[in-house]
Amino acid sequence: MARIKDLLARGRTISFEFGPPRDSDAEQRLQKALVDLEPLEPSFVSVTYGAGGSTRDTTRRIVEQIASSTSMTVMPHLTCVAHSREQITEIVGGYRDTGIENLLALGGDAPADGSEYPTDFRYAAELIEAAREIGDFSIGVAAFPEVHPRSPDNHTDRRFLAEKLRVADFGITQFFFDTDPYFRMVEELAALGVDTPVLPGIMSFVNVDGLRRMAGMNASTIPDELHRKLDLAAGTPSAVRELAVEVGTELGQKLLDGGAPGLHLYTMNFSRGTTEILANLGLR
Ligand SMILES: Cc1cc2nc3c(=O)[nH]c(=O)nc-3n(C[C@H](O)[C@H](O)[C@H](O)COP(=O)(O)OP(=O)(O)OC[C@H]3O[C@@H](n4cnc5c(N)ncnc54)[C@H](O)[C@@H]3O)c2cc1C
Repeated sequence: MARIKDLLARGRTISFEFGPPRDSDAEQRLQKALVDLEPLEPSFVSVTYGAGGSTRDTTRRIVEQIASSTSMTVMPHLTCVAHSREQITEIVGGYRDTGIENLLALGGDAPADGSEYPTDFRYAAELIEAAREIGDFSIGVAAFPEVHPRSPDNHTDRRFLAEKLRVADFGITQFFFDTDPYFRMVEELAALGVDTPVLPGIMSFVNVDGLRRMAGMNASTIPDELHRKLDLAAGTPSAVRELAVEVGTELGQKLLDGGAPGLHLYTMNFSRGTTEILANLGLR
């Protein structure tokens, strides 16, 4: 186990993101991806969290499995909107007690079905504060180079992001297909006096419809040329993976050339695309 802040201080990191499985097929796929990717010796891996706690127990189980039975440093994601202060204290305290040293602190999204929910937390910054009182975590936060979908404009987005990064140890971005907004965001943060490292996220996509849906939800622009290539590859899994590797390799090279502090790969719980992107970049 290591603290991600310390890893970043030592040099470029390579990290992988996994999602909690929803059924036994997905569980098998995740377990295979973990076995396949562990030999690449990622600096750390992270496990996402279903908004409002929908994957609370599964996220925790996978995090604890990685911590206890692999050599990989692990970071749970946690959202705070729709959780009470007691729930957050229990979840974060539980991680502290099992020796977890890293946390990705997220605001998250309120339930869309109109149901009532606790309103103790509204934004990620409040979770950072609560987590720091509970344990000595290395804390990361989310960043959106193309601006968070709920931000009214670029200026407001960067102001709140800068505030959040001032009290966090590092950021990780939403996935994107054009490196310009990422490098612009880094410059805008620097102009606001913030140089906390922000890791760019690279999507190793496996499914065209899924990619388009996620891009729509997260306001990640898919360039017209990529849309055309996705249309051609759709329906042929190997062609989709090859396209993901081509796009991920190109993005990764530009990000490394531009001095990014590391690369965070969204694995979608598959190993092959991630492995090929890193091999192409000469990183593993
Ligand atoms: C790397 C990464 C990992 C993610 N992992 C998950 C996951 O595991 N599970 C999940 O459900 N979602 C995840 N998300 C998505 C995340 O939950 C959404 O972005 C969510 O809509 C907001 O959470 P946040 O932490 O990004 O935002 P926050 O920092 O809370 O900000 C949300 C919005 O509020 C604004 N804001 C912030 N502070 C204030 C303030 N004081 N006053 C007014 N406005 C303010 C911000 O500008 C922004 O528009 C992830 C995103 C990224 C980039």
